[in-house]
Amino acid sequence: MHDIGVIGLGAMGLASAWAGVRAEASVIAFDAFEPGHTHGSSHGETRMIRRIYSEGRVYMPLLERSYALWATLEAETGERLFHQTGGLDIAPEGHDLLIQSRACAEAHDLPFIQMDAATANDCWPALHLPEDCSVIQSPGSGVLMSDAANTALARLTRAGGAQLQWNTPVSSVQPDGDGFVIFTPDGESRVRRVINAAGPWADDFSPCLRDVIRAERQVIGYFDGPPGDVPPFQRILEDGRRLYLLPAAMPGRWKFGLYHHRRQSGPEFRGASEVDAEDRRLLTACLKAVLPGFPPPDRFEVCRFTNTADTRFIIDRAPEQPGLVILAACSGHGYKFAPAIGEAAVALALDMPATVNLLPFTLARQTKL
Ligand SMILES: Cc1cc2nc3c(=O)[nH]c(=O)nc-3n(C[C@H](O)[C@H](O)[C@H](O)COP(=O)(O)OP(=O)(O)OC[C@H]3O[C@@H](n4cnc5c(N)ncnc54)[C@H](O)[C@@H]3O)c2cc1C
Repeated sequence: MHDIGVIGLGAMGLASAWAGVRAEASVIAFDAFEPGHTHGSSHGETRMIRRIYSEGRVYMPLLERSYALWATLEAETGERLFHQTGGLDIAPEGHDLLIQSRACAEAHDLPFIQMDAATANDCWPALHLPEDCSVIQSPGSGVLMSDAANTALARLTRAGGAQLQWNTPVSSVQPDGDGFVIFTPDGESRVRRVINAAGPWADDFSPCLRDVIRAERQVIGYFDGPPGDVPPFQRILEDGRRLYLLPAAMPGRWKFGLYHHRRQSGPEFRGASEVDAEDRRLLTACLKAVLPGFPPPDRFEVCRFTNTADTRFIIDRAPEQPGLVILAACSGHGYKFAPAIGEAAVALALDMPATVNLLPFTLARQTKL
């Protein structure tokens, strides 16, 4: 019997498995697909990590713990997984994004520079910001090498004795005495505790999630380097849409996306899907309008968000099954937090003291979608 069974080996499942072996638990983990697959949310070479968090200060303990654990992962693997490039939050003057970012920086004593559009355009002419924009620069933000980090997490976890079973879909999980049985086409595995990290499919194993999480199809575009140096940024456009742009590799390639680009959400958007002409048209037009000097995107890729109503994560025990821990709904901004979320899940699973306050991430505080 294993101490922990993990369903799903995206960022959250991998980080949970790593935390499990660090806690000297025996871990078995399953994914329906092969390493690096593109059916979930965690594929791709890079993710943005923002040191000042405009989504709210409730994320700061998780964020601080994650920064520490990304450094631990780098030290243990000898690989550079975090590039501190700095980052920008850009929005029309007075927008809530800027108010929240500034409040977060001041409350946590984090360095930042706020500047008007003219100053930002002097620093980064490629941005072409309109006059009414304001910019907050955060020197501590940067880029995580997500594919490399996922591979490193899998390697460390296996070296720590965990069994990672790829191409092994979990068909069901049944309570059994003081633990659970996990059923797969290869057979049954008995575990004391389960961590449900199945991303867009998490409600298959936790029906309590059915009305509170929803998968959303997201398409991102890639292009070769912008003219001149630009830090990764998120920007609220004049029509309220949110654009993000970051290196897709270090250096040279770039990628960008528009949050909720077509608002395509629901169970039918959980699995594989092709990029279509409307995705290409919409993203190409947006890039051209907002960043006229940038090359047009030459490749597109589908990814998935799993959203809650307020984009907060769920890190909690299942209400009727306290031995099953739910990690869900990382709502398009969870990657940077993966090591701290995985550690929190293992603490819940093994009844260990939590390293961060998880009250903001309970299932009970979620509203129905
Ligand atoms: C386009 C895009 C851009 C993003 N940018 C950022 C960013 O810049 N910064 C940031 O912090 N976050 C970002 N995110 C969010 C971040 O990537 C996600 O929050 C994170 O990857 C979620 O990981 P996960 O492990 O919960 O889900 P997933 O990666 O989807 O993993 C779930 C896994 O469960 C497996 N699974 C499902 N069902 C079963 C089953 N029955 N049996 C076995 N396995 C199963 C799946 O195969 C999958 O591998 C972005 C997301 C997208 C889509």
